[in-house]
Amino acid sequence: MNRKTLFALLAAPLALLANPADAALRVFACEPEWGALAEELGGNLVEVSVATTALQDPHQIQAKPSLIARARNADLVVCTGAELEIGWLPVLLQQSGNAKVQAGQPGNFAAADYVRKLDVPGQLDRSQGDVHAAGNPHIQTDPRNIAQVATALGTRLQQVDPAHAADYAKRQADFAQRWQQAMTRWNTQAAPLKGAPVVSQHKAFTYLYDWLGLKEVAVLEPKPGVEPTASHLQGVMSTLKGTPVRMVIYAAYQDSRASDWLNTNAGVPAVKLPFTVGGTEGAKDLFGLFDDTVARLLAAGGKK
Ligand SMILES: [Zn+2]
Repeated sequence: MNRKTLFALLAAPLALLANPADAALRVFACEPEWGALAEELGGNLVEVSVATTALQDPHQIQAKPSLIARARNADLVVCTGAELEIGWLPVLLQQSGNAKVQAGQPGNFAAADYVRKLDVPGQLDRSQGDVHAAGNPHIQTDPRNIAQVATALGTRLQQVDPAHAADYAKRQADFAQRWQQAMTRWNTQAAPLKGAPVVSQHKAFTYLYDWLGLKEVAVLEPKPGVEPTASHLQGVMSTLKGTPVRMVIYAAYQDSRASDWLNTNAGVPAVKLPFTVGGTEGAKDLFGLFDDTVARLLAAGGKK
């Protein structure tokens, strides 16, 4: 090793030590939508690492050593909460040994804490499948929820990185304005979908339906997280004889077999939705996520 290389190796960490205010805030996001939101609100002030991709099932992630290492270095963990990550995040945080990001600390942000939850079970019975006791956790499918989470996350960024509070506040105001404009556009575009009866593969779109006024007539999974069975699918078929639907909807991370089966056997268009940023070609960022979601819904079921 020559002296130049040695100096370069020593200088990089020393530079960070010399001026900690200039080091980016390290954000560890559980899902792509929260990574994208942190990028929107943090810009160059944050360095975002996302634990999962849009093609992974966020209920079923392994707390791998590589993920634990990333959580160890995080200043802020941004996840969905509402028990979505209950199978992997608690162990991941515990193994990280990072006191800053444990539950209840300012460095731990759960998006679902800031929205109104739907599908909250009146009675808790685990025999009903992978029931989410805290309500349906898939809050990112409604842009109104994104707006509320953005406000809360913007405030949290100011709290954990007070040296840049003014910058975060400015970025948050800018995002809120652009998001409001986009929501007005999506609402207008999606108007023909209001009241449309649909089938879902997983109960993943409760908030999307609440936003656009879609009606969920049936779900292909007999219980949340349980693969569709032949007898359950036959039951769905007979429901559809009385109540025709415009489409069957599945998320990009899901195996489409059950939706394809319904498409083949009942002639119902099967629609893949990105579900999160990166789920489809068009869902490049949060704006693209909803542009593409609305476009795909309209293409399949926009006319009555
Ligand atoms: Zn779920």
